[in-house]
Amino acid sequence: MGETIIPLADLRYAAALPPVPADAPAPNGLLSDRLGRALRDLRISVTDRCNFRCTYCMPKQLFDANYKFLPQSSLLSFEEITRTARIFVAHGVRKLRLTGGEPLLRKHVEDLVAMLAALRTPDGEALDITLTTNGSVLARKAQALKDAGLQRVTVSLDALDDDTFRRMNDVDFPVADVLEGIAVAQAVGLAPIKINMVVKRGTNEGQIVPLARHVRDRFGPGVVLRFIEYMDVGASNGWRMDEVLPSAQVVQAIDRVFPLQALQASAPGETAERWAYRDGGGEIGVISSVTQAFCQDCNRARLSTEGKLFLCLFAGRGHDLRALLRGTLEGQAYSDAQIAAAIGLIWSEREDRYSELRAAQSPAADPAERRVEMHYIGG
Ligand code: SAM
Ligand code: SF4
Ligand code: SF4
Repeated sequence: MGETIIPLADLRYAAALPPVPADAPAPNGLLSDRLGRALRDLRISVTDRCNFRCTYCMPKQLFDANYKFLPQSSLLSFEEITRTARIFVAHGVRKLRLTGGEPLLRKHVEDLVAMLAALRTPDGEALDITLTTNGSVLARKAQALKDAGLQRVTVSLDALDDDTFRRMNDVDFPVADVLEGIAVAQAVGLAPIKINMVVKRGTNEGQIVPLARHVRDRFGPGVVLRFIEYMDVGASNGWRMDEVLPSAQVVQAIDRVFPLQALQASAPGETAERWAYRDGGGEIGVISSVTQAFCQDCNRARLSTEGKLFLCLFAGRGHDLRALLRGTLEGQAYSDAQIAAAIGLIWSEREDRYSELRAAQSPAADPAERRVEMHYIGG
């Protein structure tokens, strides 16, 4: 089917105007892509702005005062996001994750949480709704988020040592405030809480055991620390393979101090390999995006701040759903059924599996290809 590339005033990533098939069946939750993968998880970026400048995500040299973030008019409204999410739910999505940029910087984000929390699956079930945050304003926002219907939260935290943490966020933000945010989130009942640590060899590998110890001692088994391999997302972080610390080495380092045993994955498409502390002190997870690709089960789609749909974290090109949400066909606004048909076609043609191709050293995983940036699409 032919696709038209439409120019956008704020174009930064190419996006195709999705074709709208006329005779698609109504969504039934059985959508499957070319590799037989279902659609279950939608990650929604609510802002491309952030108050941190993590060196691996938004390096200061590039994201400075001259960087043009998206104008307010480009952003999907809460109504547009909720409408889109409802259509995805009809197609089988059961999990929504708000991300960014820093999602807690989007004004009144708790109102969006409340709107999404009111959505139901075709069987009348509530959705699994979560949010990934750098934790900087979590202490202030946790209660409002909980009241709005947020169930749980994932906090990114790359070091326990204050100097290392300030160096990695590159805006001199103190680690104590993030730890306080986690404590408040726990106190208001957001659960389970996950903490994600991106491990960069030569930068914060010395923080693996101290952070594990601190999380066990201060927060207990209700908070799960997960270690993420540093990835080659985007094109601005100067990624090098020799800065990736394989997850197997993280497990070894912790096992030496706190003996571990392997656990079963909790859900299909679960990205983390889970390990329990043998002394009953809870569990940790490792996400080996680089050394052990998990594309085979990848059931995630990503919606950018301005309504472009990306089918892979490493895609260079999105599908402009906002054009359908705001546009008309022969003077008529696109209906939910038409947008559902467009999404169904996009997913059924999906064959992305970047990490597997990278692992196989395929030329199709050329790091020089322009790719979407992490702060724009979320994790
Ligand atoms: N600002 C929020 C935060 O930091 O949690 C949400 C957005 S952030 C882009 C989502 C996640 O992506 C964070 O956990 C962050 O550590 C992770 N991330 C960003 N760049 C990464 C990279 N190059 N490799 C691995 N993870 C990365
Ligand atoms: Fe901001 Fe999150 Fe990226 Fe850090 S990882 S710069 S907190 S968006
Ligand atoms: Fe999914 Fe793409 Fe990551 Fe593979 S590389 S797991 S397809 S997002």
